[in-house]
Amino acid sequence: MRKILLAGNWKMNGSEAMVASLLGSLLEASAPDSPVDMAVFPPFPYLASVRSLLRGSDIAWGGQTLNPAAKGAHTGEVSAGMLLEFGCRFVLVGHSERRSLYGENDEDVAARFQAAQDAGLEPVLCVGETLRDRKNGATESVVERQLDAVLRRSGVAAFQSAVIAYEPVWAIGTGMTATPDQAQAVHAFIRNKMALQDDTMAGQLRILYGGSVNGSNAADLFAREDIDGGLVGGASLTAGDFLAIRETVV
Ligand code: PEP
Repeated sequence: MRKILLAGNWKMNGSEAMVASLLGSLLEASAPDSPVDMAVFPPFPYLASVRSLLRGSDIAWGGQTLNPAAKGAHTGEVSAGMLLEFGCRFVLVGHSERRSLYGENDEDVAARFQAAQDAGLEPVLCVGETLRDRKNGATESVVERQLDAVLRRSGVAAFQSAVIAYEPVWAIGTGMTATPDQAQAVHAFIRNKMALQDDTMAGQLRILYGGSVNGSNAADLFAREDIDGGLVGGASLTAGDFLAIRETVV
């Protein structure tokens, strides 16, 4: 049985004080026997503090993006090696905000996925359709296109050490969660697509749902067969809200 993964994407939020108090509360509530793995994704400047607070705990951490280059003239960017040096296990790639606000296309996302894996990080590949795509009946074709770019570049075996997060763009930060049926349908589509190439890997692949997950809707989402956890934005900024999601998993 795959363990649920609860990943908290802080986006561009936080402060040194918030890092200490939020992580202090998460550590206090640590439950090593829990059926839930937890990970946090702070902004880059807080990674050193996060590492010193979480080292030796059962909570992992990761970067919110990376540049595919190893080093050099990329002002403002951060490499996979740097994330690794700060103890990251994971890195988000292709979050819809990176795609829409910073112009990352499918090929850019695939390059970031590959660079993360080359360095030994586990990429969390975010895919998902806009509201317009959904209304046009293009949900599956958009998700498939986003997956295919990574499959072409890295191959299916790469997903043995990767996570996929299905995040319908219209549900991120809007309070409009996909229904469990809507989410399950896309998760099953993703798993079936991967299973056509590697059944064993697909059975073990963690596919997270993201989009306004909270303590009230998480139980119904995580109960669905192909939903293996959540990528949580807003509700990961407060220990009580984040832990309330963990508590829904029994
Ligand atoms: C996210 O940031 O990936 C996200 C899903 O945000 P929220 O939970 O706030 O919708």
